[in-house]
Amino acid sequence: DKKVVLITGCSSGIGLSLAVRLASDPDKRFKVYATMRNLAKKERLLECVKGLHKDTLDILQMDVTDRQSILYARDRVVEKRVDILVCNAGVGLMGPLEVQSLDSMRRILEVNLLGTIQTIQAFLSDMKARGQGRILVTGSTGGLHGLPFNEMYCASKFAIEGACESLAVLLQHFNIHVSLIECGPVNTDFLVNLQKVELEDATLQQVDAQTISLYEKYLQHCSSVFQNAAQDTEDIVKVFLDAIQSPSPAFRYFTTSVVPPLTKLKMTEPDGSQYISAMSKIIFSAEDQ
Ligand code: NAD
Repeated sequence: DKKVVLITGCSSGIGLSLAVRLASDPDKRFKVYATMRNLAKKERLLECVKGLHKDTLDILQMDVTDRQSILYARDRVVEKRVDILVCNAGVGLMGPLEVQSLDSMRRILEVNLLGTIQTIQAFLSDMKARGQGRILVTGSTGGLHGLPFNEMYCASKFAIEGACESLAVLLQHFNIHVSLIECGPVNTDFLVNLQKVELEDATLQQVDAQTISLYEKYLQHCSSVFQNAAQDTEDIVKVFLDAIQSPSPAFRYFTTSVVPPLTKLKMTEPDGSQYISAMSKIIFSAEDQ
């Protein structure tokens, strides 16, 4: 029997690559429900699978901020069960905190945090009743340590860590495994899709000159990191496959072979001061970038 996989946020990026890989599995081990908020964006996914996978792929509309749409998609699953739920949909929000509107802050929490949680909620009772299931969540190193100008993004991703870790403790009693796939920078549409305060934005007129100059440095750092150190989605998909194939998956997977040094510093030096000065140095004092 094929494993039934439902993935959120499949119109681009990691979700799209994972859907393509699983639907094209040479041994046809998976039936993939690739979901996306806007079905008008399904062409990219269809092009990638080249129409070859009618029996292993279905595309469904699902907006993770809309409970009705989640339940509607759930009810379209022909097998009437989801073995592997992948909560991947997410957005970024970048800029000085003092100019973020309450609406944009709400929005990011709604998609990244509540969207993930209410997707899990919709499939939880059924997984518990069947005494099996996998829940995989696309995590971020920004969920493990803070990043300047990403306060709300990090808050949403830190919150996911707490929710998932809490669930994992309970769900092991139901043979349900929760895993976070912690990504650093990945080459996707993330930077295009994120909501970002541009240096030319009129809102920045209210912000002090020092913050703006630090923000400028941050943006340079960010683009150089994405240019030089971003992973390809295929690398991330391999880690998802490891987690999916493991008989007893870990709670946390890192997509690089070693835990990133700053993440390690955050974990090994719990008073926080070393992490804060190391991160500040990396981002703000590199004249030679
Ligand atoms: P992406 O922008 O290409 O993909 C995100 C997907 O989520 C998009 O297809 C978007 O349409 C979808 N989405 C947004 N709001 C939605 C909603 N309300 N309902 C359903 N879908 C919605 O970027 P990506 O890098 O593939 O992002 C996937 C996940 O990876 C996100 O959770 C992101 O936070 C996380 N992540 C990305 C990076 C990176 O550098 N790209 C790093 C760490 C973590």
